[in-house]
Amino acid sequence: MAPGRTLIRHAGDPAAILIEGGDRILAAGQPAQIGAVPDARQVHLPDMLVLPALVNAHCHLDLSHLDPEPYGGDFALWLDGIRRRRVVDDELIAAAVRRGIELTRAGGTAIVGDIAGGASEIPARELRAAGIGGVSYLELIGVGNSRCRALETLDAAAAWLPSGPADPGGLSMGLSPHAPYTCDLDLYRRAARIDVPMATHLAETPDEVESIDALAEVLCMRPIIAAHVNYSREEHLDLLARAGTTVVYCPRAAAYFGHSSHGYRRMIRAGINVALGTDGLPCLDTPDRISVLDDMRLLYRRDGADPAMLLHMATVAAASGLGLDAGVVTLAPGPVAGLIALPVDPLDRCDPLAQVLRRDDAPRWVS
Ligand SMILES: [Zn+2]
Repeated sequence: MAPGRTLIRHAGDPAAILIEGGDRILAAGQPAQIGAVPDARQVHLPDMLVLPALVNAHCHLDLSHLDPEPYGGDFALWLDGIRRRRVVDDELIAAAVRRGIELTRAGGTAIVGDIAGGASEIPARELRAAGIGGVSYLELIGVGNSRCRALETLDAAAAWLPSGPADPGGLSMGLSPHAPYTCDLDLYRRAARIDVPMATHLAETPDEVESIDALAEVLCMRPIIAAHVNYSREEHLDLLARAGTTVVYCPRAAAYFGHSSHGYRRMIRAGINVALGTDGLPCLDTPDRISVLDDMRLLYRRDGADPAMLLHMATVAAASGLGLDAGVVTLAPGPVAGLIALPVDPLDRCDPLAQVLRRDDAPRWVS
């Protein structure tokens, strides 16, 4: 038997995947095309759909010590409550992130765009140790006592943050000015000039829609990740498309706060790269996993969204928005961030991915 080669047959199309060493796809195609490969370990999953590992383009794993909780209806009050319960002790931050990583893994996710509150480097350390790839964004808050810390982080970042794209599946460091209502334009400009991945929260609530115009200059400086954009006007779509901004829609978090009419399909038609994210665990309805799979399910069930488009948003769009080689979250030959499997009914003629989105099963890791 060839060392480390596995031939997986499953209910999807293409139905056969040949992998080597658990992290490299040698071929994916019809079983007849690939042949028997007798020297490979054979894995038959006739009632499972195998998918590439998922990418969560916006999360806050350092809030994973807070369980899902109901929303009282006052966003400022809610945010205040979260800030008060945010842990600041290094060991407690590490423990919260480790729980977040466990839940992320349970959600079939190998790559994240994680916001490190307080510009802490602990989440990056924990993500690296766990082999989770993506970007750890040091969060900058430009008001009150936090402003000094934000300026220090910016000054240090230019010197020590490794620039350039991450290795396939690796973790890099980035910067995240929190939002236009906590960071002034100068802070945004300074962050955008440093050659590391950048993300921000944008237009999460209706009264922030003007902040897209206010940030236009910075958006046009370089492609960045804009989390949420729950509210936008027609002219903003052209701006975001031209700027190469990746919008990260967090459907369950948006629904939790009552923002239910996101323009994600209009954005995609306008040429904007739209990815999926979860935001923090307190806004989610799945205490045992953190996964954009459940956000795909919400959009499929609520909006009748196209399953293939949803998978693209949860893999390729998210990975490229984070500055990674999107090939690691496809079934194309080459390195792969991981493979997951989900139960389907092989006798059901409905598209297996649509079946997955109709059901609530947790993913299982295949490699
Ligand atoms: Zn967020």
